[in-house]
Amino acid sequence: MSVADNVPINQIVYARSNGGRVLIPEAVLATISPYVQDSWDKTEAGGVIMGRYIKDCDDIVVDKITLPMPGDKSSRFSFFRNKKSHQKIVDREWEASFFTCTYLGGWHTHPEPVPSPSFDDKYDWKRKMKQDVFDSDYLFFMIVGTAEIRLWEGNKHTSSITALNRV
Ligand SMILES: [Zn+2]
Repeated sequence: MSVADNVPINQIVYARSNGGRVLIPEAVLATISPYVQDSWDKTEAGGVIMGRYIKDCDDIVVDKITLPMPGDKSSRFSFFRNKKSHQKIVDREWEASFFTCTYLGGWHTHPEPVPSPSFDDKYDWKRKMKQDVFDSDYLFFMIVGTAEIRLWEGNKHTSSITALNRV
């Protein structure tokens, strides 16, 4: 399914390694859609992923993402988000949701149809698993390609990174 044509698409569901699922609703996909690198002048974009852990199961719903903002550094093949400005939104959402909408990880775009993490991406993800403050044992990393959106799950304890399949 293409995300490149700016047409709203259905939600995407990924299977987690522990039997749970990660749901990316249509509304979130719609906010990402304009940043798909489907033309030569579009630089990489990215932000933070936030959402909810569903009670009594291992399911996760992505409710919010942050979008590129001033202070981020972006080129055709790289994106560095301004930690402070994105963190401000994470803190705000955490309070506005009565402490349910939490930091889940990050997303960024790649100018390739089926995205895979670069060496720098994997280094960055492992660093975030060590340094970022989060309650759960996992962080999630999304890369938005021009034809597919892929999601990886990072385990805080083992530092392993697993690509999740869609269900
Ligand atoms: Zn990347």
